[in-house]
Amino acid sequence: MKLLEERIRQEGLILSDTVLKVDSFLNHQVDTQLALEIGRELARIFADQPVTKVLTIEASGIQFAMAAGIALGVPFVYAKKKKAVTLTEQVYAAPVHSFTRQETYQVSVSQKYLNPGDKVLIVDDFLATGAALVGLVDIVKQSGAELVGVGCVIEKSFQEGRSLLEEQGIRVHSLARIASMAPGVVNFVEEEASIRKIKESVV
Ligand code: 5GP
Repeated sequence: MKLLEERIRQEGLILSDTVLKVDSFLNHQVDTQLALEIGRELARIFADQPVTKVLTIEASGIQFAMAAGIALGVPFVYAKKKKAVTLTEQVYAAPVHSFTRQETYQVSVSQKYLNPGDKVLIVDDFLATGAALVGLVDIVKQSGAELVGVGCVIEKSFQEGRSLLEEQGIRVHSLARIASMAPGVVNFVEEEASIRKIKESVV
């Protein structure tokens, strides 16, 4: 998604070779129009699937799951990271190790909101090590619902998340795929592929 790639180039802060900060438009302050466009794009990509529910994890997946849910005309559900006193019913739960916080926590979803008849699209802001999404996939499996795929806003393709999901036969789409990054430089997957082609044709 070109618009998203441009914003990452303009406003993304590369904190290290593996951590990208996008707090000015995606992750802390949210550009609402961009979030809605992200939702529409995810809905277009998965338009061939009869999605009945979008699933994400709190907190930073919520705005994109909501935007995708609006575009698809279905509800979204978010997995909770801490068990609230209001969550009194039976839950599906899975452990997740957080890449950014370096801790393991239990994520849970009430059994009332995921059912065997559901066709679930999982949405999240980042695909990095894949731990968060693997946890959500586990929850979908426990519920007996069908997983139609995973839609991510930003994928760091140099980390193992995509292959972990694809090994399980899961369809994965990311709107911006980062092949590599370093302070001041972001290379997206297609660009790296075309640079390689140019180099090959020169040789
Ligand atoms: P994973 O479980 O795939 O390693 O990471 C998933 C979560 O970690 C994402 O939902 C996101 O909130 C956070 N995360 C992973 N990598 C980054 C990053 O480079 N920048 C930011 N801002 N968050 C990240």
